[in-house]
This record gives sequence, structure tokens and C-alpha cells, in this order.
Amino acid sequence: MNPRIDRREFIKRLGAGAAALGISGCVSVSESGGRKISAKKPNFIIIFCDDLGYGDLGVYGHPTIRTPNIDRMAGEGQKWTNFYVAASVCTPSRAGLMTARLPIRSGMCSDKRRVLFPDSAGGLPESEVTIAQALKPAGYATACIGKWHLGHLPQYLPTRRGFDSYFGIPYSNDMKPSPLLDNEETIEEPADQTTLTKRYTERAVGFIEKNKSGPFFLYFAHTFPHVPLFASNAFKDTSARGLYGDVVEELDWSVGKILDTLRRLKLCENTLILFTSDNGPWLIQHLNGGSAGLLRDGKGCTFEGGMREPFIAWWPGWIKPGQVVQDMGSTLDFLPTLCSLAGAKLPDKNILDGVDISPALLGTGPSPRNVMFFYRGAKLYAVRKGQYKAHYITKPAYGQNIKDAKHDPPLLFHLGRDPSEQYDIAEKHPDVIEDIRKEVALHLANLTPGKDQLAERISKN
Ligand code: MG
Repeated sequence: MNPRIDRREFIKRLGAGAAALGISGCVSVSESGGRKISAKKPNFIIIFCDDLGYGDLGVYGHPTIRTPNIDRMAGEGQKWTNFYVAASVCTPSRAGLMTARLPIRSGMCSDKRRVLFPDSAGGLPESEVTIAQALKPAGYATACIGKWHLGHLPQYLPTRRGFDSYFGIPYSNDMKPSPLLDNEETIEEPADQTTLTKRYTERAVGFIEKNKSGPFFLYFAHTFPHVPLFASNAFKDTSARGLYGDVVEELDWSVGKILDTLRRLKLCENTLILFTSDNGPWLIQHLNGGSAGLLRDGKGCTFEGGMREPFIAWWPGWIKPGQVVQDMGSTLDFLPTLCSLAGAKLPDKNILDGVDISPALLGTGPSPRNVMFFYRGAKLYAVRKGQYKAHYITKPAYGQNIKDAKHDPPLLFHLGRDPSEQYDIAEKHPDVIEDIRKEVALHLANLTPGKDQLAERISKN
């Protein structure tokens, strides 16, 4: 079930790839006194956008948003077409990425409040292990830049959760007064949002330069294109798509700066970049919201538009260029995958929902992910297994005044043939529904929901 990449095979491939590229100093293999293998650990950069839809990038088909740097990154690496986030809204999605656990387990989702707010008392519980905490013992320098949204009180800040440094806003940019933090200190309030993308990028470049001897882990979580939208003067009024396009094109510029830095420092072959977004487009924002392309609906819901995201993986020399990957993957898989590639110990005190997708990245095998659970708040709404997705409950994206609809039998869609979830085929496939029902029963039998972290507010006394 969990074909973790064979470490020896990985090192062998790493060595062969390095030789082919003429890289030296990347791999060190010693045979003395029995087989002893060591390799320079790769650097990791996660670039995480906010509310960017499946259809908002040039390489994913947008006709008027120009994203040449991201498109090039996809051309030099892998573009995934069946990649999911852990939830269809900010806080739970981020908790899932950071811990490899469905937010229901950590209590980072709720039926009372969708996300954490400036008056929230909760945050990511200490019992959770973040990617940064998992990589630290393996010798990684770590930085968090951008939007955190896993708790703004001191004990929940990135600097207390495995990150050596933090620069960014602690929650969404529509929650006033959106302070800008440098480590744990507020340096601006409210943050000047027209400068955020540029200043985040300068910090990211500085971190990479400072840690060029590696290994490092940079979690770069952009504030945009979450509404309210702000672009710097250099990008304002430049995109045919309007302000939303300006903002996404500035994010593309930022990606270009990161790639330029890696090229300049000759770190490309030792740095894996994972690019994606936290949830689908915020449709109620109309022209200021993004697009899920051909996928149904958007932010807040469990149709594909809410949780399927663009995902690009880039690592010259190790990831073969020009691939379109149809395997299933998730941000839940980042922690196990990075631990595997870093030779870091996987956190073992909690049940993990993530799997190691490094075989699919390196071309040594398929992604082991075959099932995805779709929660809205604390309730399971839908399940995908293979190409089939069953919806037990449906409710449209945020902003539409329509109640939950329960389905028994569930709605059933074949996502290969019907990625837009238009044609219910439940009647013809009772066997598939039964198979997915067993999957749900197994999942629920191993599920202990965590204490709701989003409901509690800071007391005003
Ligand atoms: Mg978001």
C-alpha cells in the first residue's frame, strides 16, 4: 500500500542523474566497511498561492493571464492534473499541508467557523508535527514567508512550530487590521498590501542566498490572489484579465525571481519546488475571483473546483521535464514525500493521511494515492476512489444561499470521463458505490476528531 521509494535505488538514480548533468559534489557514496550510502540532502521550496483556481494559469489554459515563469517551470518539470488540497478553505487546507493529516484529526476544521479569525483563541495544536519540525532534526534551515493562518497567538506562530524565521501576515488579508510580522514582532499595521508580493519575494531570495550551502526548507505562502487584491505599481493595470490578472502575473514574476536565484546560485539540481494553491477560486468575488476552468464550482465546496488545484513539481535532473501527470496526489502528501527525500524520520505519534509520492516525482513508480476524502467543515461530503467520486452531501461554493442536499444513494461521477461532474451514473454502478462505502467505513473506524480549534474566541475580560 505504501511503496516508499527504496533509498538505495533513489541514491543510485541520484548519482546517475548527477553524472549525466555533470554535477559534482552532489552525491557521496562510500563502500568502505559494508554498504554506507549518503547523499547531499535536497532543498525544498513550497510555493503556496491563496485562492488560485485550477484554470488561472497559462499552462492550465487561461487565455488572458500571462504566467511565463510558471509555464516554463511546468515545462521543465511535471504538471499534475489530479491534485487535491486537504480542504476547500484556508485554515483547514494549510493544516493538512503542514501536518499530512486531515484537518478533522487536528481539530483545524469546524462547522461553527470556517477558518481562524483575529479573535480566535485556537491554532494548530502542539500535538501536531509540522513539515518544518519533521525536517529540523535532519539538519534543515527553515523559513516561513507569507500567510500563516494556523493561529496568530504567540504559541501558534511559525517560529514556535519548527521555523527558524517568519515574515508575513498571520491570517487572511481581508481580516483587519492585517499586521505584518517579522518573526514574532509586528512591524507594520495594517500591512501595505501593494508591497507584499515584492517584499515576500525579497525575503525568500535572501533566505535562499543565506542558506545556499543547504539544506533548506522554504514555505512560501503568498497572500494573493485572495481578495482584497493588490498589485504593485509595476503590475497594476497591465493584464488583460484586469486586477486579478495583474495580481497573478506578479505572483508569476515572484516565481521567476526564485528560479533566477536558484540558477544564479547553481542550486537547481539540488532544489525541489512544489507549486500549488490552498483552495479553489472565490467565485462570489466575481471579476476579482479566479476560475476553476472546466471544474465544477469553487472555494468552500467539495466539488472539484473547490479542492482540485494546479500542481507543478520542478527539480531539474531528478524530475523528467515536460510531463503531464494524471496520478492522484495531495498537499497531504508533502510531509511524507519531503521526509522520504530528506532521509528524515516520519512523525510516528499520529495517524498520517499523506503518502510518499516521490516515486511519481522521480519516475520510479506511480503515486500510491488512490483515495481522497472531501470534508466541508467537520463533515465528510464526498470520496474519490480511482476515477469514481461519490457525493453523500453536496452544497455549492460560498456565497450561494442553498442548503445541504443529502444523497442516498450518493451521486456518482466518473472524473476521467466527466471531470466537470455533470452526469450522475450511480444507478449503473452499485458495485462502485459499495466499494466506496467500505472505504468510508474503514476511514471512519480509524478517525478520532480533534478538539475544535476554530470555534473558541479570545475572551474579552
Ligand atoms: Mg484560500
